[in-house]
Amino acid sequence: MKNYITVIGLEVHAELKTKTKAFCSCSTEFGAEPNTHVCPVCLGMPGALPVLNKRVVEFAIRAGLALNCDIQKFNKFDRKNYFYPDLSKNYQISQWDQPICLGGHVDIRVNGEKKTVGITRIHMEEDAGKLVHSGLTISTSDSSAVDYNRAGVPLIEIVSEPDMRSAAEARAYLEQLKAILEYTDVCDCKMQEGSLRCDANISVMPEGATEFGTRAEIKNLNSFRALERAIEYEVERQIDLIEDGGHVVQETRTWDDANGVTLSMRSKEEAHDYRYFPEPDLVPIDLDPAWIEEIRDTLPELPAARKERLLQQDIPEDSVDIIVADKKMADYFDEGAKTTENLKALANWVLGDVSAFLNAEGITIADPIFKITPDHLGELVALI
Ligand code: ADP
Ligand code: MG
Ligand code: ZN
Repeated sequence: MKNYITVIGLEVHAELKTKTKAFCSCSTEFGAEPNTHVCPVCLGMPGALPVLNKRVVEFAIRAGLALNCDIQKFNKFDRKNYFYPDLSKNYQISQWDQPICLGGHVDIRVNGEKKTVGITRIHMEEDAGKLVHSGLTISTSDSSAVDYNRAGVPLIEIVSEPDMRSAAEARAYLEQLKAILEYTDVCDCKMQEGSLRCDANISVMPEGATEFGTRAEIKNLNSFRALERAIEYEVERQIDLIEDGGHVVQETRTWDDANGVTLSMRSKEEAHDYRYFPEPDLVPIDLDPAWIEEIRDTLPELPAARKERLLQQDIPEDSVDIIVADKKMADYFDEGAKTTENLKALANWVLGDVSAFLNAEGITIADPIFKITPDHLGELVALI
């Protein structure tokens, strides 16, 4: 058997933490009774007109700046047309050829090796509604119900370059992205609630090949574990296929978590299938550069800077990476550091006994159930 190289690019959808939807004033709150956060605009009633929520643009700029992107002064919305019952208007308002951000990057570290993953673009779009099937899938169900509460909730889609070469790198990239979105406070990143979702484009090529192989796009990856397992399965499937004399077809597949396999959903749609055209109901966006600078000035310390700061304190890099990846834990650590000078010991306590307790209880460090305040932990470390 030949050696194969894996190539991965991720498309990540992040729901923005605005109070109201992208183009109407309905609430974005999660978990309400079905179809209670809806209005003529997000239900796609004929004649209803969208009005852009300024916060959506602000959050997209915030995320773009934190991800080292070039913010595009001129950008515009387009209609992406497709027919599916979760889409009330039969088109989705998205950005096609002139998105708000281009060309960023994220730095990752896997097994001690550093690497930069390119970001191709970030665009703004609206979420679709949610289908609830009576059976497992739409095709095996007698009926399906639709909840439009999520329709019109603002999203950014962050598209990476095909720069990742393993499941571990893809995971590290997604973890880093999640941390940055949490630090900048634009998304609550609850993968189990779907506010951060990821599609993985995966291909393989024989070592020495000069062109990438044909990719499959895997949907429905709603945990880090699912992302890693799906990539590992899919890489093996593609290699087996090629070794058996077959070839990979470009298609959209879904991850079946219960059975640990990817399954074909549909052949890959091309851009022309969506008949993109400029959204006639919204004016293009012409950003004021002063506003972009104002937003830049409000950016908090980002994970990379925080990491550098903690590394200066003589804490091992593996420990720093774990603390910094979780904003709440990093904030706790910084608070604790006010009552002790021994930061290495503080890090050991946070990652050792404290984390073991939190894991056993199934809670986070910011949970009110967790009674040990950071200043108390710092004092304890100082006493020891
Ligand atoms: P589409 O909308 O058709 O999925 P996009 O440009 O939005 O196209 O996304 C393409 C994604 O696929 C990007 O993340 C890109 O890095 C990745 N990609 C492109 N070609 C390959 C390939 N041969 N193998 C793996 N990933 C790829
Ligand atoms: Mg895609
Ligand atoms: Zn609405």
